[in-house]
Amino acid sequence: MRRPPSMNENLFAALRDNFPDPDCCLIETGGGDIFTYGDMLLRSAQYANALIGLGVKPGDRVAVQVGKSIESLMLYLGAIRSGAAYLPLNTAYTPSELGFFLGDAEPALVVCRPATEGETGAVSGAAVLETLGDGGVGGTLGALADMASEEIEDAACGAGDLAAILYTSGTTGRAKGAMLSHGNLTSNARALFETWAFTREDRLLHALPIYHTHGLFTATNTVLAAGASMIFLPKFDAEEVAGLLPRASVMMGVPTFYSRLLQCDRLTKDTLAHIRLFISGSAPLSPDVHSEFEKRTGHTILERYGMTETGMNTSNPYDGARRAGTVGFPLPGVEIHIADPETGIELEQGEIGSIEVRGPNVFSGYWRMPEKTREEFREDGFFITGDLGRIDDQGYVNIVGRDKDLIISGGFNVYPAEIEAAIDAIAGVAESAVIGAPHPDFGEGVVAVVACKPDGTLAEEDVVSPLGSVLARYKQPKHVFFVDALPRNAMGKIQKKELRDLYASVFQPPEN
Ligand code: AMP
Repeated sequence: MRRPPSMNENLFAALRDNFPDPDCCLIETGGGDIFTYGDMLLRSAQYANALIGLGVKPGDRVAVQVGKSIESLMLYLGAIRSGAAYLPLNTAYTPSELGFFLGDAEPALVVCRPATEGETGAVSGAAVLETLGDGGVGGTLGALADMASEEIEDAACGAGDLAAILYTSGTTGRAKGAMLSHGNLTSNARALFETWAFTREDRLLHALPIYHTHGLFTATNTVLAAGASMIFLPKFDAEEVAGLLPRASVMMGVPTFYSRLLQCDRLTKDTLAHIRLFISGSAPLSPDVHSEFEKRTGHTILERYGMTETGMNTSNPYDGARRAGTVGFPLPGVEIHIADPETGIELEQGEIGSIEVRGPNVFSGYWRMPEKTREEFREDGFFITGDLGRIDDQGYVNIVGRDKDLIISGGFNVYPAEIEAAIDAIAGVAESAVIGAPHPDFGEGVVAVVACKPDGTLAEEDVVSPLGSVLARYKQPKHVFFVDALPRNAMGKIQKKELRDLYASVFQPPEN
């Protein structure tokens, strides 16, 4: 059944209201090949029909562990059009991690790369298994799509119907499948299109992975909502991106993209004359990179904040001051408040507390985890993000760290972001991560892990002594460790759990 256009809240049906003429460009490859809106309408319909032909029904999960390509993007859109729930998986997952996701999600269809067909088949249970080549070429699903019809009625969906399941990165504890609805994705795409002033003239440089909310929804859905286009790259390579930026008008990236671009000589004001906006998110952008980028390019990076469970929540303003170290204001339709982590009661303006979000962007819960879902929502519908922050007197949201990264030393709360900012300001420091390690006396002791700039070497004293005059004693690191680089995941997030495990026994007396 197809609902009348205005009634069908299927993400694809909602976004297509604003698609331009079919011969307009949707995707340009690094090599300059063009894939139009018309091509996308046909190819995504073929994937939708191929899925339906394989027995996939609305609401069924379609788990996809393949490389980034135009074809895999079309598969995403085909799944949405067919009413299935799209479930992207990072190709870096091992067979045992994959086994967990597939066992939990019970997909009707699993799509993997031809090279991993054997190991995927061993953990795919009752699901139908098909393959899709990494560059989109080769594989059985692509071949089925080639033969499928180019006509389709987008499945009739309500705003609350399931569109996708994204497993949270699972860097702490067991990974949870966040259930995102058609309404969640549509409302966020529209809010971002408006907030970031996208038009059909825009060409986004897309070098993010598409198994994560940032590249899949924030980047792609916003482009589709605007009827704009993108330069679609299989991965981020700083030199390649610097060379292609003159053809783009907007770039979205994680902070690492920006620090790496700063190492490229060809990144100059002249080559970026055509760009109107650089956006950063998924991890904190250091104020240093923010100001260096501005000095070098004349562009003030716009930082925003979101997460798998909610899509985007806040953004620095398009028009107005983009403040380094802040994530700006709530998006239209999104409510943010800072609450007491224990009671959920809203705190006075300026106080640090739990960042909580309510709005049409907020997911409905974790897949088959009703208990966990209940724990993460307040009774009035606010979702507990797990981030700690404050709202300053001008309304800008500042994130001070993850709730679980909070250090409690001798009964005092220590917010790692504050200590990291103080350490990063010391000459010779490239970056730092501050963690708590079990301490026999204080409960937890503050530990700093520091990476020096390439030309610098520092000793513990060089870090500890300048902090003496800027931080209260209980906040000062009791140990400083030096590393070449901090451990990060593909989205640029520092893996604090890894560091906590590594330095877990620094305050423990040696065993005899
Ligand atoms: P994910 O679900 O993988 O997108 O991770 C979401 C988490 O990334 C958030 O809960 C924040 O802890 C962090 N995050 C996202 N954007 C920012 C930002 N601009 N600044 C600081 N942390 C961020």
